[in-house]
Amino acid sequence: MSSITIEGLYKNFGKVEVLKNLNLEIKDGEFVALLGPSGCGKTTTLLSIAGIYRPTKGKILFNDKLVNDVLPKDRNIGMVFQSYALYPYMTVLENIIFPLKLQKKFTFKQMKEKALQVAQLVQIEHFMDRKPGQLSGGQQQRVALCRALIKEPEVLLLDEPLSNLDAKLRINMRGELKRLQKELGITTVFVTHDQIEAMTMADRIAVMQDGVLKQYSTPDELYGKPKDLSVAGFIGSPPMNFLDAVKTEHGIKVFKDYEIEISFDTSKKELVLGIRPEDIKIGEGIDTEVYILEPLGREKLITLSRNGYKFKALTSDDFSIDMGHKLKVKFPPNKLHIFDKETRLRII
Ligand code: ATP
Repeated sequence: MSSITIEGLYKNFGKVEVLKNLNLEIKDGEFVALLGPSGCGKTTTLLSIAGIYRPTKGKILFNDKLVNDVLPKDRNIGMVFQSYALYPYMTVLENIIFPLKLQKKFTFKQMKEKALQVAQLVQIEHFMDRKPGQLSGGQQQRVALCRALIKEPEVLLLDEPLSNLDAKLRINMRGELKRLQKELGITTVFVTHDQIEAMTMADRIAVMQDGVLKQYSTPDELYGKPKDLSVAGFIGSPPMNFLDAVKTEHGIKVFKDYEIEISFDTSKKELVLGIRPEDIKIGEGIDTEVYILEPLGREKLITLSRNGYKFKALTSDDFSIDMGHKLKVKFPPNKLHIFDKETRLRII
């Protein structure tokens, strides 16, 4: 397998700067998700790794070997796109062995054996004689995966491969893909705009915004210690609450009158306090009013208001409360995320 290093990568299309000084190191056998909103440059990064786009500036290395000038077909990569791009007039078997046919290295019997091996991995070996039109979306997606895997690539590149599937199948495939990746130990880069997909599948997540890498961390680190307000707001559902806050002698003050004791160092006065809805303690502390109540099945999402500020908290489903009622809440100091309002960067 292969490690991938991206050093100072810039990619322009005409006057449009799409990637700006991207640096990323992907370890041998690692599963990395490129995560970010539409248009942030995820696909451009993936296609640059594939060699379909040439860097405007910067280096791409596979196992410390510069590949800027290596053609896509010589990079030993497998790719799966959102659209699967299967040939409709070919059978599943013919689709899967297509990349091997181009190599002209194997007999038909050898190719068929290899196809069966990869098909068994994702359990589509019984559909080898069907045409793609006779398969479900999830089965077609597996065929596309087999076609990418049959060349035994060193790097697997996946561009939103699950987004055409319905919600239930997507959750299944998410798990299966993760297992398969670990079984094969193949270095994998996965593009998604779905933070749950990235969090559940990847070893590390590269959060991108406007062509810039915002944070590159494990899912836990990203969730627990987001580096700035944009990452903090992007990761987590329901999202983190942000409240304007000021520094006080012994801590931080929100809602104009709620002071929380917490020790941290900053010369800045104007801050943003972040707290996740599930981290708010209910039943003790300051008074708030229940503004909206939304039962979610397993839990309830409550929008609370105090002194004109609104924020959300989660409680267990059996917690009984009505809209308009009073509720006491507390912000535990060890659950606070504190950001500089001006630079938007994390302080603690
Ligand atoms: P999405 O999730 O919507 O696919 P993305 O993060 O993958 O988004 P890219 O496809 O990498 O984003 O595109 C990044 C930006 O580059 C977009 O603003 C897009 O319009 C622009 N772009 C991409 N390809 C080209 C091209 N060939 N010519 C000009 N601009 C392009």
